[in-house]
Amino acid sequence: MRVCVVGGGGREHALAHVLGRTAEVVVTPGNPAIPGSVATPPEAVDADLYVVGPEAPLVDGLADRLRAQGRLVFGPGADGARLEGSKAWMKELLATAGVPSAGHQAFTEAGPAKAYLATLAPPYVVKTDGLAAGKGVLVTGSLVEAEADVEDKLSGAAFGAAGRRVVIEEGLTGPELSLLVVCDGTRAVPLAPAQDFKRIGDGDLGPNTGGMGAYSPVPGAGADVVDLVMDRAVEPTLAALRAEGIDYRGVLYAGLMLTPDGPKVIEYNVRFGDPEAQVVLPRLDTDLADLLAQAAAGDLRDGPSFTGDAAVAVVLAAEGYPEAPRAGDPITGLDAAASHPGVTVFAAGVAEDARGRLVTSGGRVLAVTGTGSTIAAARDRAYAAAGEIHWAGLQYRTDIAASAASEPQNEKEAP
Ligand code: AMP
Repeated sequence: MRVCVVGGGGREHALAHVLGRTAEVVVTPGNPAIPGSVATPPEAVDADLYVVGPEAPLVDGLADRLRAQGRLVFGPGADGARLEGSKAWMKELLATAGVPSAGHQAFTEAGPAKAYLATLAPPYVVKTDGLAAGKGVLVTGSLVEAEADVEDKLSGAAFGAAGRRVVIEEGLTGPELSLLVVCDGTRAVPLAPAQDFKRIGDGDLGPNTGGMGAYSPVPGAGADVVDLVMDRAVEPTLAALRAEGIDYRGVLYAGLMLTPDGPKVIEYNVRFGDPEAQVVLPRLDTDLADLLAQAAAGDLRDGPSFTGDAAVAVVLAAEGYPEAPRAGDPITGLDAAASHPGVTVFAAGVAEDARGRLVTSGGRVLAVTGTGSTIAAARDRAYAAAGEIHWAGLQYRTDIAASAASEPQNEKEAP
């Protein structure tokens, strides 16, 4: 099978790497460190299956355009991608479907938005309605900061048009969990759960980012939790989508909080998470190309299976990320890192400079994934390899998966 992966980040590198176990893979546009990268636009690539990585082209209808040409596509059409393209629409759909999630209201005017904020208890949660590359969410204990954020977003100063409508939510507490589910329009099968780290700094301090690391499996998120999330959240959501006439074929990514009242959906994404893909996909024991082709054809037959190994990914970010990442810093040590046993380096924000050197070219530059028989072993491998890589201003968190690594591994809990 020949598979075309659309995108050029760490998630697409992970997809290409794991698809490449059984398929011939082309990545468009890819990046200089992803093998098989081509400049040809997806519509002009000849492939048996198209896998669209990022949310923006999905929201923009790329999957529809490819399907209209008769191609087999893994990724929802623009109708289903609204789940991620509009948080307000997503929240309405969740309410219709009876899916547990945080109470909320949407606003286009600052006055009523601030009045609603004043009725809530901390933490205060203010989100852009539209896409903001994972950075449109403020969670704060300060009402003053939340009010200022409402002004910034609604004025268009912070996120342009994506922020001209805001969603304000009740603040939830509890551990977070990411569950990626493969859907064929009717059936849905979960992949292994993962946990990601959204804040830039150790100890979950500092601003939100696209994600600074992840691990899988998640101790405490065994088959019982996955079953509950499928029953209470994913299946009702897919039923509500079908009721709207939406044939959802792709990944439904449920961002969950395990609250004292049970799991609640914080958000849905319409694609593989980044960096969740970099820990979940390498653990697959199943033929990924076959799984995604079945889903794309509306004919999902086999659930995926996973190796008993754990995976930990550490994201290496550029100087200045997330506010103003600096580009153009030469990267060294990649080959040394990749030669560590059980380690794969996935490339995201990289480019080649005029001298042919690999340089930084985005906020999140690399994700270093380590696999091993336990989370602790995988973590040690990821950090040992990350330590080989250098550029000016390189930053990464030192506590990815640290507390999970110190918990006793319950093998029965690792789906
Ligand atoms: P989102 O982009 O919607 O996933 O939000 C980014 C991060 O903000 C989440 O991973 C949570 O850590 C946090 N967050 C979002 N919504 C809430 C909420 N209602 N209560 C508490 N934290 C939240």
